[in-house]
Amino acid sequence: MKRKRVRIPDLVCVRCGLRVESRAKTKPELSMSDSPATLERAWDFGMVDADVIAFPVCKPSEEKQWSAGRLSEPISYWHERNWIRWQPEGKVNYVRVSRFRAVPRDGSATKGVTEGSETSVAWKARFSRRDGVVEAVQGQRITIARSGDGRRHTQTVPTTLSIVVGQGEEVAHNQIIASRVRPETDHDLHCAGTLPDGHLPQLLASRERTQRFTGVKLARLRGDASLGTPIASLESDREEDVYIRLEAAAHLVAVCDLAAEGLFTPYLASPELHYAITLITLLWSFVESWVARRWELRPHADLPDADAHDD
Ligand SMILES: [Zn+2]
Repeated sequence: MKRKRVRIPDLVCVRCGLRVESRAKTKPELSMSDSPATLERAWDFGMVDADVIAFPVCKPSEEKQWSAGRLSEPISYWHERNWIRWQPEGKVNYVRVSRFRAVPRDGSATKGVTEGSETSVAWKARFSRRDGVVEAVQGQRITIARSGDGRRHTQTVPTTLSIVVGQGEEVAHNQIIASRVRPETDHDLHCAGTLPDGHLPQLLASRERTQRFTGVKLARLRGDASLGTPIASLESDREEDVYIRLEAAAHLVAVCDLAAEGLFTPYLASPELHYAITLITLLWSFVESWVARRWELRPHADLPDADAHDD
């Protein structure tokens, strides 16, 4: 059975509710996979304007070949793996989803045949190739003096790109210096420390599935018992997504002290094995959040590894 793809932003801040999705790249670029034919494979599926996409550049630092196999007539079994240890390089750029949606993409490319109709979308940007200081910005020309030896490098940026750094500003390797979409500054990303007023009820009532999921998860991690009623209603809604119903059940048990047996047993008895697996994963995070609250600590971020349950 093919279940609809469950994609949820990788990180959520327990304090302010900011959701971040990470798209690691092997070179500095603002590109994402996208499939115009399949709604669930669109680059922004499940995301809202306020979400942020992080683009860490990762370089392989260690590579190992691993293989194991058995060869005997008339059948053979062979398994090969390539283990790579990745090392983040330079600045991680962050761009708000609303910024991408506001600017037409610069292009799309279709990957190899084996990946079917999978394509990627990209927005043009220029990245600093060194750590340094912006010495001058004149028109579309930007001069960066490299840290250490002060060596200058000037480049002219096409007029379609806006320069997003100013004179005297420190820039890091791989940082966006000119772009079609404005990246978030460190100041923009500073945690507000609190949720906006009415944020959780709004998330729970959202038409966007991933928002409801985030709402239930945040309510549990924050130990917010005041939302028992809307969460119980999500739990009992047979039309609701099963992962949200499971999260809601966990909230009712962990935060509202309802009996686990009645809420969890139907999932364990279900012929869908992955429901049971999800429940076990969830019980583990439930133990974690229970321990965290017992110790009066709060986990900083939760990583719902939902993709692992895809068919
Ligand atoms: Zn925050």
